[in-house]
Amino acid sequence: MKTAIITGVSGQDGAYLAKLLLSKRYKVVGLIRLNREGAIQTLDFLGITQDIELKEIDLLDRLSVENLIDEYKPDEFYNLAAQSSVGLSFKSPATTFEFNTISVINILEAIRTKSSETKYYQASSSEMFGNIGIDNLPLKESVLFHPASPYGISKASAHWVTVNYREAYGINACCGILFNHESCLRGENFVIKKIIRTALEIKAKKTDVLHLGNLSVQRDWGYAPKFVEAMWLMLQQDSFNEYLICSGQVTSLRNIAESVFEKLGLDFEKHVKIEESLMRNLELDIIYGDNSKAKNELGWDYDLSLDQLIDTLIKDEEGFLRWKLKDT
Ligand code: NAP
Repeated sequence: MKTAIITGVSGQDGAYLAKLLLSKRYKVVGLIRLNREGAIQTLDFLGITQDIELKEIDLLDRLSVENLIDEYKPDEFYNLAAQSSVGLSFKSPATTFEFNTISVINILEAIRTKSSETKYYQASSSEMFGNIGIDNLPLKESVLFHPASPYGISKASAHWVTVNYREAYGINACCGILFNHESCLRGENFVIKKIIRTALEIKAKKTDVLHLGNLSVQRDWGYAPKFVEAMWLMLQQDSFNEYLICSGQVTSLRNIAESVFEKLGLDFEKHVKIEESLMRNLELDIIYGDNSKAKNELGWDYDLSLDQLIDTLIKDEEGFLRWKLKDT
């Protein structure tokens, strides 16, 4: 039985990845932050809380991380914990940078000194590319980063730390550069989740208005349960590398929001209000990627159309809301 450690197991990707690894008969050790209170809704919803060994740890404490790696000597280590909100990173740049980079150094240093055969996955992000200009689209792994947020800067630093441990010490480390991926387990402050959740509330007459910021941004949105399959595939290879994980399709936020409202039979213009306070100082206008390296080298398959993605997200959110009602 292989052992995998997942940081950020309580998050969207951590939960879906834990479920995938359990289905492949891994022993899964899930790391959560110290003194985390309350039930872990993501794991409860997927029905896997009891199947995971949960451990509290401060990933900024080098010694604790070293002891953990020494104790488990895991076959695979998936580092998903991060302050993951771009918006929040503008409000808390220092804590975002500190956690998103120092935790990575602590883990890789512990792997190097205590368990050098462990395979390591780093959750990198398309936000590292920043505003790279239309000529570079669709993005490929070779495009240079020019991050446009404290979050993007922290992820770019962690990315290069990971590459450096592979090149300098031969650590089996790779980075998945993931574009936006969504599900009903996404945090409440993320925009696609907010649109679908609020539209369902409007339909149920629980509210009447959805406040949004810049609707003209264009992004490459995908489905989280499919994206975690790529993380696992990356650690099953003989060599370790960087891969863009994306849908390869681009659309505007307006298009997604209008489509959600139309599918639910709601009047978009009547219910959606644009709010200046939700606009960012610096925003990526358009970003989408080319997933051919992941498809060709990893055999990752992703074939959901945008329309199928929106249908799936609405159906999943309805299921999640029903589950929450039963749970309370
Ligand atoms: P998420 O739902 O926000 O989950 C983040 C996880 O990190 C949670 O388990 C959270 O724990 C944990 N965490 C945050 N701050 C922490 C701290 N100070 N100490 C310990 N744990 C902490 O994010 P996600 O969507 O699953 O994304 C997973 C990873 O992929 C992240 O690194 C994210 O930056 C990256 N990524 C995500 C996307 C995307 O579209 N989803 C795209 C590119 C890259 P709590 O539950 O206790 O808060």
